Amino acid sequence: MKKKWIVLYFILLFLPFIVVLVMGKMGFFEEKPTPDLPKGSTVTLYRTESKTTQTLPLKDYLWGVLAGEMPASYPQEALKAQVVASYSYLLHRKESIRSHPDSDFGHSGDVCDNPAHCKAYLSPADAAEKWGTDWLDSSEPIFNSAVEEVLGTAVLYDDAPANTVFHAISGGKTESAKDIWGAEIPYLQSLDSSWDRQAKGFSSEVTLSLEEFSKILKQENYALGAITNTNGGSVNTIRLGEKTYTGQEIRALFGLRSTRFTLEFKKDQAIFKVCGYGHQVGMSQHGACILAEEGYTYQEILAYYYPHTTLAKYYFDE
Ligand SMILES: [Zn+2]
Repeated sequence: MKKKWIVLYFILLFLPFIVVLVMGKMGFFEEKPTPDLPKGSTVTLYRTESKTTQTLPLKDYLWGVLAGEMPASYPQEALKAQVVASYSYLLHRKESIRSHPDSDFGHSGDVCDNPAHCKAYLSPADAAEKWGTDWLDSSEPIFNSAVEEVLGTAVLYDDAPANTVFHAISGGKTESAKDIWGAEIPYLQSLDSSWDRQAKGFSSEVTLSLEEFSKILKQENYALGAITNTNGGSVNTIRLGEKTYTGQEIRALFGLRSTRFTLEFKKDQAIFKVCGYGHQVGMSQHGACILAEEGYTYQEILAYYYPHTTLAKYYFDE
């Protein structure tokens, strides 16, 4: 009788190991292979510093854009929205290159790593060098899961990849592509993004002496004249002395963070008060962060900032 109990005891004791062993043999613990991406899932990236073109797996490219464009502290749904927007932007670029093979896109490769021209990109090694290995250890898995969860999903307009541009912080409203670049694009319209006002860095100021101001403008007379605004509230044109400038010209001349600015002259100073950061067209990255914190999904965030679009799996067919 006692023997029987001992045998049963040992069976029970080893049961978990046996189950694990059998499950292992049946392939329960094998890492699920990532579904093979179809052709066209590589990216040719022009590196501005080394002036070389690098071919990368799509996954690695999207990881690097995420690392260059958003902090890992942002909610997962905002990170996923960023991955889908970066991917759609890339697809749109690839389609443009294919349909206009003779056009000059400014460099070889599909995209470059310069955020002022294409999108930012940091490889894990670049990121570790910039922020340290501790940062990489804690952020890498967060970025990995964001990329893996939405890999291959794109924002489409009329069944084609949308030009999903994005920026850091809007000035309270996003700007339409028409007002900033002169092209009417149905999914790049001016939208409310007033929650961006909570962003650190929403407001900034640039102050110059009148002497510096006049030197930069190359004008002795810079009397403030008429100002016209865009629908989003940015400066469309501004008259200074004898000349009318676009908001973008002034932004570039004085290094302002956006075209949503006011200008006043006080005593011997010219003071620009600026809201937002970036061109303000398309998705606001900070706005996406706030929406995700409020419980919005990446699908809802993208549907908001890119109206009239749909989400679907899309692969570039080379
Ligand atoms: Zn570029």
